[in-house]
Amino acid sequence: MRGKGRAWRRMAVALAGLACVLVTACAPPEPPEAEGRLNVVATIGMIRDVAENVGGPYVNVTGLMGPGVDPHLYKASEGDVRRLFRADVIFYGGLHLEARMGEVLHEMGSRTRVAAVSEVIPVDRRLAPPEFQGAYDPHVWFDVRLWAMTVDVIEHTLSQADPAHARDFAANAARYRRQLDELDRYVRAQAARVPPERRVLITAHDAFNYFGRAYGFQVRGLQGISTAAEAGTADVQGLAEFIATRRIPAIFVESSIPRRTIEAVQEAVAARGYEVRIGGSLYSDAMGNPGTPDGTYIGMVRHNIDTIVGALLRQP
Ligand SMILES: [Zn+2]
Repeated sequence: MRGKGRAWRRMAVALAGLACVLVTACAPPEPPEAEGRLNVVATIGMIRDVAENVGGPYVNVTGLMGPGVDPHLYKASEGDVRRLFRADVIFYGGLHLEARMGEVLHEMGSRTRVAAVSEVIPVDRRLAPPEFQGAYDPHVWFDVRLWAMTVDVIEHTLSQADPAHARDFAANAARYRRQLDELDRYVRAQAARVPPERRVLITAHDAFNYFGRAYGFQVRGLQGISTAAEAGTADVQGLAEFIATRRIPAIFVESSIPRRTIEAVQEAVAARGYEVRIGGSLYSDAMGNPGTPDGTYIGMVRHNIDTIVGALLRQP
């Protein structure tokens, strides 16, 4: 939430100014950057958002991956490596989400405070689909209750790095947890509007399994858990057969995956004499544009459930 961060900063500067009026003989307030705010770097936008909400005015958070960026394929640029070297704290998802940044993140762990936020989730609540060959599914943000656990690890890590503001981080974290509770209730209420037999979610890659488990949807993705492996013709035909047989009303594109991936499925369904609509675009591994509602974790989750429910309830 950039806007909120700026508002906090403005308030902090205003309060510092007020203190100067009350205490005479006061040096002019230092610009916020010079006040020793923690320099935090996060990989995906959803983590940056949690860090900004918990850190408030005491952190300066840089996100490496913007809207539409696929974390499975992302490689650190030279600029990213410089930012990582300058960071006081680094947050990333882990569970092999940032597969091509593994080496640099591992190296940073020996010199900086680094936390893989999704790895706080207990093993018995992680999904380990057979197609991912023994590794865990990293897309934990689709289950809002699971994602709320990352607030704990971010609060804890920031408090260790800046103990003077531990109480502020705790208060911010408590407020954000309440917002996530409310969000989880919203998603449940919306999902409940769709009759159980219509709760089938078909997307370009297998990102929504936590969503399916938490909110009662059957989930099928064309590509696997990672986008690194291309979908083959057999995958497209198999999925098209499933959609035509079950007469699924809508399938969905993802903001961080090329649209043609799911359009190939739509065409294969049409070849079987059945029309399936594209129900809209979902945010899977990246959020929307900064400064818009979809550019926050809460906005992204609301967009997704509204899009899914709207498309599945629409009559053919
Ligand atoms: Zn993914």
